Amino acid sequence: MTSQADQQRASQLVSRLAAEGPMRISRFMQIAASDPEFGYYSQPGRIGKSGDFITAPEISPLFGEMLAALLIHLWELSGKPADALVFEAGPGSGQLMADMRRVFDRLAPPLHTAPLWMLEASPALRDQQASHLNGADLHYTDQIEALPGRPLFGAANEFFDALGVDQAIFQAGDWHHRLIGLADGQFAFLPGAALSAAEKQAFDCARHRNAKEGMIAEYSPAGAHFITRLARHIAHYGGAFLIIDYGGSALTGSSLQAVQAHEKVDFLSHAGTADLTFLVDFARLGKVARAEGARLVGPVEQGAFLTQLGITRRAEQLASTADAKTRHSLRAAIDRLTSPAWMGSLFKVALLIPPGEGLPPGFADTATQTGTGPEK
Ligand code: SAH
Repeated sequence: MTSQADQQRASQLVSRLAAEGPMRISRFMQIAASDPEFGYYSQPGRIGKSGDFITAPEISPLFGEMLAALLIHLWELSGKPADALVFEAGPGSGQLMADMRRVFDRLAPPLHTAPLWMLEASPALRDQQASHLNGADLHYTDQIEALPGRPLFGAANEFFDALGVDQAIFQAGDWHHRLIGLADGQFAFLPGAALSAAEKQAFDCARHRNAKEGMIAEYSPAGAHFITRLARHIAHYGGAFLIIDYGGSALTGSSLQAVQAHEKVDFLSHAGTADLTFLVDFARLGKVARAEGARLVGPVEQGAFLTQLGITRRAEQLASTADAKTRHSLRAAIDRLTSPAWMGSLFKVALLIPPGEGLPPGFADTATQTGTGPEK
């Protein structure tokens, strides 16, 4: 159920989208998510049990603890740079950073006092983050290029899947843009112009050698933009950045999805009232990272990653001194984060670092490295 105020905002958003005429899917998704007045994230309370979807940091503080422990390890390995900055993209309620900062405070005070930079489109969420992160040396930027040239340690959880994706469809022997526009007063997918040679390259159409009529390829321009700049920063100044997202590698077909009140709903008719997402293609992120001189380790499944980092042991340790109810909710939270029936397999974790050898904790055994070695 959505409130009346939500419905009103959504209908204003729909008018705004309709007025633009047929547009790329990523643009539709970006406006639906981030329009400062009517966009989905212009209202707090979207994320969490009472919202539309629940994210890992909202399930348990142990998620942030594990990420922080790994970042501290990598910060130590890189010689504990005193000028490091901490960075998060798409921080939502600010919960993840609050959990990580508690660990920094205990185990790596220079990361706790380091400048904290965030990239966040929603003014409402910025307010929520600032009050959650009271005491931090907090800064915002819209562009990675504007970050100070220092080693960067941080994370993005469920950020790339919110950035929007474009689709191309194979029709009559060629690839065409797939757009969203109005048909009979309703949003519909509409065929657009044929892709240029450069666009075919961006969509990596060559990967679909035996394309059949109606086949769909995806490409996230904002995702490519973001990973390019971040990889460049890390290749240049050092650091480590964790990317956790709903995704896979070398994906084919449409992965568009809309989620409202924890249920899947129709993608085209819920702009502004549902979370619109797609599956992040980690192989593509790795390719970009490599082109910029950085290394993307992974992806590995979230369940394997958290288990290797010791989340189960940590939960048992906490459970040993807790009452029965807390023990039960701890176990339920760990199950949600790690079990393949919940988030354990669908969510993937990758680590962006400067070039080098070896696999950090969390990535041993199961890791496939997509950011090293010559292009195959
Ligand atoms: N990381 C949080 C929130 C995930 S939701 C968590 O795990 O709970 C996605 C987040 O990305 C929100 O904070 C949203 O406002 C932000 N976001 C989406 N598109 C964005 C864009 N283009 N630029 C900056 N932030 C964006």
